[in-house]
Amino acid sequence: MALITTLPGPTTTQALEAILTDAETAAPIWAETTAEERASALHHIADRLDDAAERLIEVAHEETHLPGARLQGELKRTTFQLRLFAEMVAEGSHTDARIDHADPDWGMGPRPDIRRRLEPMGPVLVFAGSNFPFAFSVAGGDTSSALAAGCPVILKAHSGHPRLSAMTAAIVSGALEEAGAPAGVFGIIFGTDSGRVALMDERVKASSFTGSIPGGRALLDIANARPEPIPFYGELGSVNPTFVTMKAAKARGEQIAHEFVGSYTLGAGQFCTKPGILLVPAASGIVESLADIQHPAPATLLNDRIQSGYVEALERLAQHRDVTPLVATSGAYDAPPAPTLMHTTAASVLAAPQALIAECFGPAALVVSYHNESELLDVARVIDGQLTATIHGEDDDEIAPELIRLLSRKAGRLLWNQWPTGVSVTYAQHHGGPYPASTSTSSTSVGTAAIFRFLRPVAYQGMPQHLLPPELRDANPLEISRRVNGVQQF
Ligand code: NAP
Repeated sequence: MALITTLPGPTTTQALEAILTDAETAAPIWAETTAEERASALHHIADRLDDAAERLIEVAHEETHLPGARLQGELKRTTFQLRLFAEMVAEGSHTDARIDHADPDWGMGPRPDIRRRLEPMGPVLVFAGSNFPFAFSVAGGDTSSALAAGCPVILKAHSGHPRLSAMTAAIVSGALEEAGAPAGVFGIIFGTDSGRVALMDERVKASSFTGSIPGGRALLDIANARPEPIPFYGELGSVNPTFVTMKAAKARGEQIAHEFVGSYTLGAGQFCTKPGILLVPAASGIVESLADIQHPAPATLLNDRIQSGYVEALERLAQHRDVTPLVATSGAYDAPPAPTLMHTTAASVLAAPQALIAECFGPAALVVSYHNESELLDVARVIDGQLTATIHGEDDDEIAPELIRLLSRKAGRLLWNQWPTGVSVTYAQHHGGPYPASTSTSSTSVGTAAIFRFLRPVAYQGMPQHLLPPELRDANPLEISRRVNGVQQF
C-alpha cells in the first residue's frame, strides 16, 4: 500500500449517505456472522496492521510528533487488542446467555420459559481520539469491540492525524474484505460536521468518543436530543488525583517524587490518565525534592489545538491567587512547552475545588501540600468523577480503608502504590468513571468488557427450540457457558 501523501478532505454529503446506507445494509449480515467469522476478520486486521507497521509508524510520527518507540508499543497494543477480542468472541461468553425454564412453582407465581442473550445494536459511530493514534483511533479499542460485538463501524477520523487515519482505514477495509466480511461493515468519515450529521442519523444506533469534556458533552447532548436517543459512550477528562499518606511519604518520599515526575511527563503529559494532582504531607520534603528533580526536555504536543488548549488551561490554573510555581515556569507556555509543576495547599483546593481541580492536558501538574491526613478525605469528597485515583500508602495506614471507600465512589480505577498512566488491556480492566470522566458511568472503553457497550439484551419468551438463537437452544450447539435456572454452567 502506498503512503497517503494528500490530506483527505471532509466527507461529502453524498459519500456520507452512501456510508450510512452501506452500514445499515451490512448490520444484519454482520450480526448473523458466526463467532469464528468475526474472530477471523479481527485477526486479519491485526495481521495486516502488523505487516504495514513501519509505514504506519512513520506517518503517525509525522502527524502526532510522538516518538517511534512509543508508537511501536502502541501499535503492538492495538493488534493485541484486536486478537484479544477475537479470542473473546470465539469463546462466546459475551452473549451472557441465560435460560430460565418454565416453573409452575416459582416464588412469585408460575413463570414462563424465558431465555436471554445479548445482541448487536447496529451501526456504531466511533469518534477517534487524538492522543493514541493507533490504540484509540481507527483500528483502536472502540472499533475492535464494536466489530467483535457484531456491529458495523463508521469511524469519524480525528483531525489531528488524517493521513494516518486514511491509511489505517484502507488497511482495515482491505483486511475485512479479504476475510469475507460484508461491504459496509467499516467506513471512515472526515470533518467535524460529518461527525455531527452522522450522530443525528437514525441509522446510527450507538456512538463512542474519546476526547475533551466540551466536545464529548456537545456530542452527548446531540445523541440525547435525537428523536430516537442512542447510547453515547464518551471517555472525557480526568485529573487522576494521587494521594500520598504520611507513612508512605516518610518511607519512600524521594522515590515517590521521582516516579511522579516520570508519570506526569510521560508522553508530554498527553495521557487521559496523567496524575494531574499530587497530594503530599507539607513537612515530608517531597515538594522540595520535586523542585530539584531534573525534568525531561520539552516535547512537541500532538497538534495546535492541544497546544493552545493546554496553554489556556495552564494559564487559568497558574493565575489563581493560591497557586505558586514550583518547577520551570520559563518555557512552560512555549511550543513545545517545558514540563511544569505548580504548588498549592489542600486548604486552598477545598476552598476552590472547581478552579484548582482542573485538567491541564499536557506536561503540567499541581502539587498540593496538606497538614493533616483528614484533608485527604476532604479532598476525596469534593473531587468530581475520575478515570483513576491513586493511593501511595503503607499496608498499616489507618486512613487507607476510608480513603479507598470514598475514592471508589469517584473513580473507575483505584491504584495502590502504582502509577495510573499505563492502562493494560485485560479482562478485568476498567477505563471509565462517573461523569465527567465518562458519559456512561457503567461502561469501560478498555479491556474485553468494552464489548458490552455495543450489545443489547433480548429475552425470548415461550419460543420453540428451532426458532431460538443457537446460544439459547437446549442442546447448546455452540458449547458456551450459560446461566441455566440461575446457575452458571460451563
Ligand atoms: P476533542 O476536541 O473533544 O475532539 C475529539 C473528537 O470529537 C474529534 O473527532 C472532534 O472532531 C470531535 N468533536 C469535538 N467537538 C465536537 C463538536 N462540538 N461537534 C462535532 N464533533 C466534535 O478532543 P481532543 O482535542 O482531540 O483531545 C484532547 C482532550 O481529550 C483532553 O482534554 C483529554 O483529557 C481528552 N482525552 C480523554 C481521553 C480519555 O480516554 N478519557 C483520551 C484522550 C484524550 P474534529 O477533530 O473534526 O474537530
